Amino acid sequence: MSRNLVVAGHGMVAQRFLEAFADRGADGWTVTVLAEEHRPAYDRVRLSAWFDTYDAADLDLGGAPAGVELRLGQAVTAIDRDRRVVVTPAGETPYDALVLATGSRAFVPPIAGADLPGVFVYRTIDDLEQLREWSTANGRRVGAVLGGGLLGLEAANALRLLGLETHVVEFAPRLMPLQVDEGGGAVLRRHIEALGVTVHTARGCAGLEGGPDGVTTMRFNDGGELAVDVVVVAAGIRPRDELAEAAGLAKGPRGGFLVDDSCATADPAVWAIGECASLSVEGGDGVCYGLVAPGYAMAEVVADRITGGGSKMALPDTSTKLKLLGVDVASFGAPFAPGLDVVVTDQVTGVYAKLLLTDDAKTLLGGILVGDASAYPTLRASLGGPLPAAPLAMLAPAGDGAVKMDLPGTAQVCSCHAVTKDHVTDAIAGGCADVAGLKTCTKAGTGCGSCIPLLKQLLAAGGVAQSKALCEHFTYSRQELFDIIRVRRVTSFSELVSTYGSGRGCDICKPAIASILATTNPGYILDGEQAALQDTNDHFLANIQRDGTYSVVPRIPGGEITPEKLIVIGEVARDFGLYTKITGGQRIDLFGARVEQLPVIWQRLVEAGFESGHAYGKALRTVKSCVGETWCRYGVQDSVGLAIDLELRYRGLRAPHKLKSAVSGCARECAEARSKDFGIIATENGWNLYVAGNGGFRPRHADLFLTDLSTEDLVRYIDRFLMYYIRTADRLQRTAAWLEAMDGGLDHLRDVIVDDSLGLCAELDAQMAQHVTAYADEWRATLDDPDRLARFVSFVNAPETPDPDITFEVERGQKVPTRQGPVPVTIGGAR
Ligand SMILES: Cc1cc2nc3c(=O)[nH]c(=O)nc-3n(C[C@H](O)[C@H](O)[C@H](O)COP(=O)(O)OP(=O)(O)OC[C@H]3O[C@@H](n4cnc5c(N)ncnc54)[C@H](O)[C@@H]3O)c2cc1C
Ligand code: SF4
Repeated sequence: MSRNLVVAGHGMVAQRFLEAFADRGADGWTVTVLAEEHRPAYDRVRLSAWFDTYDAADLDLGGAPAGVELRLGQAVTAIDRDRRVVVTPAGETPYDALVLATGSRAFVPPIAGADLPGVFVYRTIDDLEQLREWSTANGRRVGAVLGGGLLGLEAANALRLLGLETHVVEFAPRLMPLQVDEGGGAVLRRHIEALGVTVHTARGCAGLEGGPDGVTTMRFNDGGELAVDVVVVAAGIRPRDELAEAAGLAKGPRGGFLVDDSCATADPAVWAIGECASLSVEGGDGVCYGLVAPGYAMAEVVADRITGGGSKMALPDTSTKLKLLGVDVASFGAPFAPGLDVVVTDQVTGVYAKLLLTDDAKTLLGGILVGDASAYPTLRASLGGPLPAAPLAMLAPAGDGAVKMDLPGTAQVCSCHAVTKDHVTDAIAGGCADVAGLKTCTKAGTGCGSCIPLLKQLLAAGGVAQSKALCEHFTYSRQELFDIIRVRRVTSFSELVSTYGSGRGCDICKPAIASILATTNPGYILDGEQAALQDTNDHFLANIQRDGTYSVVPRIPGGEITPEKLIVIGEVARDFGLYTKITGGQRIDLFGARVEQLPVIWQRLVEAGFESGHAYGKALRTVKSCVGETWCRYGVQDSVGLAIDLELRYRGLRAPHKLKSAVSGCARECAEARSKDFGIIATENGWNLYVAGNGGFRPRHADLFLTDLSTEDLVRYIDRFLMYYIRTADRLQRTAAWLEAMDGGLDHLRDVIVDDSLGLCAELDAQMAQHVTAYADEWRATLDDPDRLARFVSFVNAPETPDPDITFEVERGQKVPTRQGPVPVTIGGAR
């Protein structure tokens, strides 16, 4: 006779339990899931990814396994343990075994005004939908998050992405106080502030004020206040254990259904798993874990127990990795325990790393990584055992594959699904040939995803060639797609994806293919479906700034400009009230233009002979020059003339990354040509060409490539260098990284573009010639076409109305965006 298994809640852990139960071939059971939410289980760990597409389907976990009856929108309201039934508003459901997987709720501290409209929590897709609807309504500009923990920082990123000025308020003296120490907190704070988020630490919220139209003010416990339109409370979570008391089930010291190491309550027919469980292991009092990995482990144990096994829970791993775009933070093991620590702080690159070892330095107890968490998968897998290399070697920023591979077979590679290195290497030996295959065979990589780099390394160590697929929509690398587009004469993304890819594309493949199409099919980059592929800057042919205005950067080839043109720039800046700044690349930035002002500003500039400086695109930016032999006593060649010619030749050239260049008139190198993608330094005998330098996060001096070239040869080799890079580099790969990854390095590059070892040179030359001939200024092309102009409005339904949210104040005689946060720097008293 069939027995009834009832699961209360359909969250991530319930889903994992149902899969584990089905995997064990649970014959003889009828399974019913009663779920409060109106949608099947989704990936709550990746909840913030909803802001990428606003499509809940992207978080789908695949639905309940076949044969399971899933009743959505039916919360369990009571458990009658004597009669073994659970109660929902729709009626009673009998059970022989009951699994409680009701998760947590966001904790809202008892502060006045927490129930005002505009105050949200961050837990479900419904919460995010409401948050978005409220935040994007007209007039809402400032958002604050209560809580500077992992969840609070994710919520802050969401507010940023919604275009709000964002504040994070944290009671503790540092961000993520549970995961990082003082040193890590200080570095993390700098990273978060660099994203434009204002951080208030050691500050609490004493109350919220507002009215029926929403929250307006946050009052701090130190007497200060902040004008707010949106507040997200991310102050912690509380287990959903409200069924416990009436059902006579014991709770843990901090709430949660109290369960033993088999995840059973005192009633052997009732189990609890995931965030609603208070787990008592090794005689402990009971702890609620707010992470998915312990929940998954509990799901496995209960699936095993109900089907007759004897699994037990060990103390769970509480490692975490922050998923805040652009800021790497990881905390693992017990980083605050007593022991020997090794700490590395690099103020220059913003990296902080700490490892904690036992007193004999033989066992890794835990660690904290901020700014660069590339070593996280290896370090976490080494927890509880010896480090595979000396601590300092492990903390070296870029890590090193040889060090990483030296893990014991029992090391846990994926803590979400408790998968060891042996599991993974066995799967590889059994024929798993890529990450997707390993995910299916072992489940590694299907949780938080932080072990995926380690899976790739294990595949490589197992001799499996790695996929260079651009993204999930194309199995081809960027280089292969470039060749397909060129050889098959593909002219649109939809044609490419329908013939050579799958799905509708994503934020990775769309701009990468837009860039290839711009190289292979020169023309206006916003025509037809091309417009939808571009990222925000290219979409408006201008750089979007943090306050939602745009900066306009006219091209000034070689930095040479006539007084008349300077006057026009000055007049335009004055008439439109634009903030004006001279850049390090010999350009004049004009900041603060509203979108509907862009065409009027361009009109004036185009009439004066300017064109777009492409400061917005992954394209050639500038060719900087010194004054060279025209004015300088030391100059041996005309650096200005060459810089102008080169800039005009390569203007508008789309590439995997932005490109910069410079020409110096002698070896004194005043134009800083050796920090550029291609730099030229004059010699008595001609030009020296340097390649693959860059500034940025990891500066690199360019390598000397060819010496004493004639101008004609120089241009020919630069043409080929650029085209070969554009054709073969990966998406967002700078020339420096491209050259470093190239088999044979500089010598190979010389073989290809000087000695024509691949027989490609004629093609590269022809492609560059096509670019030079077809170039057209994008500002002018926009002005010449009323249809193209139509996109440059603040509001589609009120094109004449400027966005009222954009406000300015005056600083050092020029307008700048209104600031709520830090005061501008003033040295030596008032100016
Ligand atoms: C934004 C965010 C980011 C996160 N990031 C990470 C991360 O990086 N790493 C990590 O490990 N964890 C992370 N977490 C935590 C992780 O999501 C949870 O640990 C995990 O979802 C817990 O799964 P669960 O099934 O126990 O609970 P949940 O996923 O919360 O599911 C519980 C379900 O039960 C339903 N329910 C409640 N009461 C009842 C009832 N009486 N009857 C029927 N149904 C009921 C709820 O509506 C809910 O749908 C994050 C959480 C959030 C919100
Ligand atoms: S690089 Fe040489 S030519 Fe150019 S400004 Fe400096 S010293 Fe003069």
